[in-house]
Amino acid sequence: MKAIVAGAGLAGLVAARTLHRAGWEVIVLEAADGVGGRVRTDVVDGFRLDRGFQVLFTAYPAAQRQLDLKALKLRQFDHGAIVVEDHHWNEIGDPRQDPKALIPTLLSTVPLLSDKLKVLKLARELRRGSFRRSPETSSAEFLRAPDRGPVRLVTEVVKVGRTASVVRVALSQHERLTMTATVTAGRLPSQAPVWSDLPVLAPEPPPDALATSEHDENAAPLSRACDVRLDPAGFRREGAGAVLRGWVRPVGEPVDVLFALLAGDILPPVVVNVGRPGWAPTVQLSALLRARPAPGWLRLVSESRVVAGSWFDEDMTVIDSAGRLVCQARQLALSPLG
Ligand SMILES: Cc1cc2nc3c(=O)[nH]c(=O)nc-3n(C[C@H](O)[C@H](O)[C@H](O)COP(=O)(O)OP(=O)(O)OC[C@H]3O[C@@H](n4cnc5c(N)ncnc54)[C@H](O)[C@@H]3O)c2cc1C
Repeated sequence: MKAIVAGAGLAGLVAARTLHRAGWEVIVLEAADGVGGRVRTDVVDGFRLDRGFQVLFTAYPAAQRQLDLKALKLRQFDHGAIVVEDHHWNEIGDPRQDPKALIPTLLSTVPLLSDKLKVLKLARELRRGSFRRSPETSSAEFLRAPDRGPVRLVTEVVKVGRTASVVRVALSQHERLTMTATVTAGRLPSQAPVWSDLPVLAPEPPPDALATSEHDENAAPLSRACDVRLDPAGFRREGAGAVLRGWVRPVGEPVDVLFALLAGDILPPVVVNVGRPGWAPTVQLSALLRARPAPGWLRLVSESRVVAGSWFDEDMTVIDSAGRLVCQARQLALSPLG
């Protein structure tokens, strides 16, 4: 088979090599007078001058697949740059890594002093990890149940703020909208709470705790990804009321903020305890992420205030192994009439 590749930049050369290795006959067309595209190297008076390309990020999976990094005998440069402006050389470096760079960097006229201060501020904030944002709240309307399979997500940034940023999400499948959501992202507090009032539940499930997969056929696929246990004292017991208690942890992965959010809707519908088993679709759900979860089991308490007609509410409290509230979720859902 024959292929024509237009352009001998990185992308074209990799495509040509891949096709060639797969047994294709390949012709590469290049408009310029040499190969390399934006990664060309010109040899001038014995010096190799690279056009563009200053940094090779060796962690790129594609770079690891396509390049023989050992053969390249890579060397590390000191962090910094020399900017030539009107025959004046400006040396800019990072004095925190190389103290020698302090004086030339302070004296350089490029960049401006205000820019240098901004870089320092940015470095300080990055070190503090204050750019790490988590979805602090998410509020979703479930319009129709999707089938298993690919879905299309369209996101729109509504606001980027210092304290909170807001993103709107629309999820559709087969050209039909199935869910809309608004996610507010911010920085979770690292300080211990000055006040909290949480339900009491053992940090780990007791040996006789029930695995949900055995009691809820809808939970079977989920149970491959998470281990969910129910408190036997309050599951389908007469007089227990619309309250469920349980524990959850992911299978083979550490607990993270997204899992804490998922835990806000992981138990069987609370109405199983008032004689309404079966599928209970969520219509609206709002979840608040309150802290980064500690490793280990998450404790869950789910309760309803009112079950009336087909409608019921469900409030979930998620507490981590360190006893901190990590997620609160409230949903309005439908249940088959008993
Ligand atoms: C100043 C600068 C610094 C950079 N620094 C870095 C860096 O430090 N680290 C990093 O990872 N990336 C860096 N990049 C980006 C990197 O160089 C590019 O992403 C990469 O080289 C793009 O490769 P490419 O094959 O997609 O395109 P190109 O390299 O642009 O190759 C396209 C080729 O197609 C040819 N062509 C176009 N049209 C036709 C035609 N009709 N017929 C025949 N030939 C045609 C062109 O002449 C060119 O040779 C830098 C880029 C620049 C400009």
